[in-house]
Amino acid sequence: MALIKEILDGTKTLLTGMKVTLDNFRKPPVTSQYPMEKIEMTEAFRNVIVLIEKEDIGSHDCIDCKLCERVCPSFCISLDGERPEGLRRKRSTKFEVDFALCSDCGLCLDVCPTDTLGYSKIHDEAGYNRSDFLYDLLEPWADKEEAARERLKEIEAEQAAERARKAAAKKAKKVRKPAP
Ligand code: SF4
Ligand code: SF4
Repeated sequence: MALIKEILDGTKTLLTGMKVTLDNFRKPPVTSQYPMEKIEMTEAFRNVIVLIEKEDIGSHDCIDCKLCERVCPSFCISLDGERPEGLRRKRSTKFEVDFALCSDCGLCLDVCPTDTLGYSKIHDEAGYNRSDFLYDLLEPWADKEEAARERLKEIEAEQAAERARKAAAKKAKKVRKPAP
């Protein structure tokens, strides 16, 4: 009797399991086949900071002001820069971020005067050493740097011409002012 009850219970459990399997078999998958398949990250997703392109320059616009480096509470940004010949503004020549220390707080983005910092959508970093999380933010822009400097020279020349034009117009207005 006990054996029959055991067989019936086992059959019932087996059928219940098969029903669950069949029910889920008909539903669309809720997981993705990582790493063959990668999901699109949401707009709000934050990961390691990156330099973003400014359309008029065709590259990033980091002017080596070091505000991000100073504000970072985790001391994970290391910067350097130079003032290229013929340019008023500086250009960064080194921009490293130790992502093992970064808390994604966003303070560096908030203080950037040129809005050239953003978050990346990288979500699958893995590494064996701390050095695997040391990112060179200038590396993706290296090929575009020369053209960006030439474009900036043109922009600065246009801005200087505009300033001179406004100053001349202001001066001419003063000269034309009738005496009281
Ligand atoms: S997000 Fe915060 S912790 Fe990360 S680099 Fe920027 S300021 Fe530093
Ligand atoms: S705050 Fe912006 S412009 Fe200044 S150094 Fe950082 S990334 Fe460059």
